[in-house]
Amino acid sequence: MNDCIFCKIINNEIPATKLFEDEDVLVIKDIHPVAPVHVLIIPKVHFASLVEAKDEHQELLGKLLITAKKMGEKLGVSQTGYKIVINNKEDAGQVVFHLHVHLIGGWNKKAEGYKI
Ligand code: 5GP
Ligand code: ZN
Repeated sequence: MNDCIFCKIINNEIPATKLFEDEDVLVIKDIHPVAPVHVLIIPKVHFASLVEAKDEHQELLGKLLITAKKMGEKLGVSQTGYKIVINNKEDAGQVVFHLHVHLIGGWNKKAEGYKI
């Protein structure tokens, strides 16, 4: 997937702030954060969105959520709260067509917060 920006980040062809990486997933800071904490949990295997996911991806999809949970703890938002968002295809506003999970949080408790 030569034209995929997230594949290029995974392959170290373009830079990103990497917060966690293992054989299956990569976590980076979003380049245009919409909240004080905004990271992306990205599977290393390329598929465009949840629509293209197959039964064989069940374990990987679970791992994305468990990784998000652990990142929430690491980033200190587990107690205050955070949103998990997956945009799928154009109508949902997806702009990078390599499946990824947004973890968004870290607002001041008194602030109204970011609404999707
Ligand atoms: P979505 O496709 O779910 O709408 O969101 C894609 C997200 O990727 C956006 O929040 C955008 O800011 C982020 N993004 C796009 N290009 C890059 C990039 O080159 N580096 C990083 N770190 N984030 C990116
Ligand atoms: Zn890709």
